[in-house]
Amino acid sequence: MSLLIRVLLLVAVGALLYRSYVRWQLQNRQRNAPPPERFEPMARCTGCGTYLPSNTLSPSQRCGACEQRP
Ligand SMILES: [Zn+2]
Repeated sequence: MSLLIRVLLLVAVGALLYRSYVRWQLQNRQRNAPPPERFEPMARCTGCGTYLPSNTLSPSQRCGACEQRP
């Protein structure tokens, strides 16, 4: 086997290994990536004016403390 063919084969094998390594790294990163952050819509309490995640407010748009207040 001539030296040129040997070098070409080596480069081809190296490129293949490198490509599969990069693909494997990408898959790993995607698997280990934390789930995309969920952004809670914020809403303002009509009683005290505090901004809270809208799902923690009562149906009347008041926080827990204001809801207990008469
Ligand atoms: Zn409040």
